Amino acid sequence: MMQQIDTEAEKKEILKRYRNLLKACKPTKEGKKTIRQAFDTALEAHSEMRRKSGEPYIYHPIAVAQIVAEEIGLSTTSVVAALLHDVVEDTDTTLEDIERMFGSKVATIVDGLTKISGVFDQTSSLQAENFRKMLLTLSDDVRVILIKLADRLHNMRTLDSMPREKQLKISSETKYLYSPLAHRLGLYAIKTELEDLALKYTEPEIFKSIARSLQQTKRDRNKFIGEFTDPIKEELTKQGFTFSIKGRPKSINSISSKMRKQGVPFEEIFDLFAIRIVIDSPIENEKSDCWRVYSIVTDFYHPNPDRLRDWISTPKANGYESLHTTVMGPNGKWVEVQIRSNRMDEIAEKGYAAHWKYKESTTENALDEWINRIREMLENPESNALDFIDEFKLNLFADEIFVFTPKGELRKLPSNSTSLDFAFDIHTDVGYKCIGAKVNHKLVPLSYKLKSGDQIEVITSSKQTPKEDWLNYVTTAKAKSRIKDALKEEKRKIAEDGKAMLQRKFKHLKITFNTNNVNELLAHYRIASPLDLYYRIAIGSLDVKDLKDFTHDKDNIKAKVPHPKADSHSFEQMVKNIRGSSDMLVIGDRMDKFDYKLSPCCSPIPGDDVFGFITINEGIKIHRTNCPNAIELMSNYAYRIVKARWTNQKEIAFLVGINITGIDEVGVVNNITMVISNELKVNMRSISIESNDGIFEGTIMLFVHDTDHLTMMMDKLKSVEGILTVNRIDSN
Ligand code: MN
Repeated sequence: MMQQIDTEAEKKEILKRYRNLLKACKPTKEGKKTIRQAFDTALEAHSEMRRKSGEPYIYHPIAVAQIVAEEIGLSTTSVVAALLHDVVEDTDTTLEDIERMFGSKVATIVDGLTKISGVFDQTSSLQAENFRKMLLTLSDDVRVILIKLADRLHNMRTLDSMPREKQLKISSETKYLYSPLAHRLGLYAIKTELEDLALKYTEPEIFKSIARSLQQTKRDRNKFIGEFTDPIKEELTKQGFTFSIKGRPKSINSISSKMRKQGVPFEEIFDLFAIRIVIDSPIENEKSDCWRVYSIVTDFYHPNPDRLRDWISTPKANGYESLHTTVMGPNGKWVEVQIRSNRMDEIAEKGYAAHWKYKESTTENALDEWINRIREMLENPESNALDFIDEFKLNLFADEIFVFTPKGELRKLPSNSTSLDFAFDIHTDVGYKCIGAKVNHKLVPLSYKLKSGDQIEVITSSKQTPKEDWLNYVTTAKAKSRIKDALKEEKRKIAEDGKAMLQRKFKHLKITFNTNNVNELLAHYRIASPLDLYYRIAIGSLDVKDLKDFTHDKDNIKAKVPHPKADSHSFEQMVKNIRGSSDMLVIGDRMDKFDYKLSPCCSPIPGDDVFGFITINEGIKIHRTNCPNAIELMSNYAYRIVKARWTNQKEIAFLVGINITGIDEVGVVNNITMVISNELKVNMRSISIESNDGIFEGTIMLFVHDTDHLTMMMDKLKSVEGILTVNRIDSN
């Protein structure tokens, strides 16, 4: 297919975009030269390439560089690296070329941005490995991550031209890895946009409907914001403040997750927006000035004492500083007010880069602390990439608590940390020997959950050793990996005894102890490694019964019965078979070849957007694309995902759960059952209703054909008198 391309117009457009980039990054004379050189190199290297949309490929690196300069606030080196970020991966240009032309700093960054290629372990995940590789460079140069985020942001902004399954995969990764990462680095604006874009592709209907509602309510909202802020503005001016006030709607994603969490429609979300007051204040006065503004706001509106957040005295780990309060506004509506200085505002929007700009003025650098923690995790060579991502996410999402040592030193830990986590945070050896703690002078167990403000004294004993169940008590990645290390060491010691026992047995039966024979045992008992085999023999959980299950001729032992499972139906083979046989699973068709199950975590029914996931032991499981587990599956195990759709059949019925709430009136249960069984002729499996202070809440389990059928039923139920809400139960 040939397409007519106006190359002259394209050249003009490329130059226009390049000039825009220069405008955004305002380089020095020297810097401008280097940027030009990088631009020329990228232009040349990508000259033959086009994006999926048909546009010249060079648009992409220019756009990424533009984001890096304009939205993250980085300078020349980063802009150069951004322009070159896809050059090594996609063209003949090598890292050595880059180093020769632009120096080792740029080369290191570009290397960090180049994906791992070639063969990799199929049981792991390429995505996880790439992510890990990228994070490995974090301790060298955080700019790698910042440029990667810009790259991801531009790819998300241009995701429209990708096929649907790519959209889902990329959006899932974005939600699962990149937006939390942006959050952790304090790039609030980018984090929000990434989340909104991911929602746009994973749940297009919800996204569209919220965007529409926000548009429709805009005028009312602005009117309310005006009424709310007018008296504050007047007073601030009177007291001589230079300030700006903005009323911003919350992001579509945060509105959507609120609707889901609270099970309420758009109209019932109260805090659709937050008021932000940004003041111009010299650094030495900003704290007291912010509290003066707080005092003015609360003179007009009554604050909710439970919703005061002071991130000025103790900034968040990502550097965020701000004073938040929620006050009772006109018409009895709660309104969140954020108060901060210009400096704090810039850090909140641009995160890390802005942080450096003001570095000399901030007292501590919590981000450095966080990077150190990540480095510690990465230095553990044993952990595989997926474990690592799990632990990494653990640290990403955790909110923090602040606790104190007996000497009054402040320590930050993820929330849900226990006294044992605290012990490991102090020192690994303190963790290993910990038998308990005194929290605020009271004796507590290892598993005690700490709260902000606790003061902790660790109690140790030289006789203590790490125990398996400790893994249940700890939250921090550091404590987890240290305990695992110790247990592994312990297991290794025990396994040595088991090995000696097995060797004696072999000797007794006059069989040679060699790798072949050990492997035969492993295969027969389906044990993963010699270490596990020896360990199980040592602790007595496996009895090899004088090798009665085996025959032996001279040196080689052989199992009498064939190994279970040791046929061609290995897992890899199964994945290949399913993938090779068809592009798309049709659910409801006779699938004589493969087993499938509807996953209980999201209970899909026909009409739902679904995909198949190839499991190790249970065939294919069908999940909804908005299943809470889908994101993780799609981003970590993309090669095990198969596309799936429903056949147009009406014979089969599927079980769904519906949640209802309403006002408890006489006969309401009777009315509900009447509607379901008489009017709709639907087969109901169970109904349970609990009533409390005149309000009831209930669950109905019933059989439906598909989503249309379900929607009709839910509409019907909504019309029953006394019923207030009707919601499908997404997961159990
Ligand atoms: Mn790219």
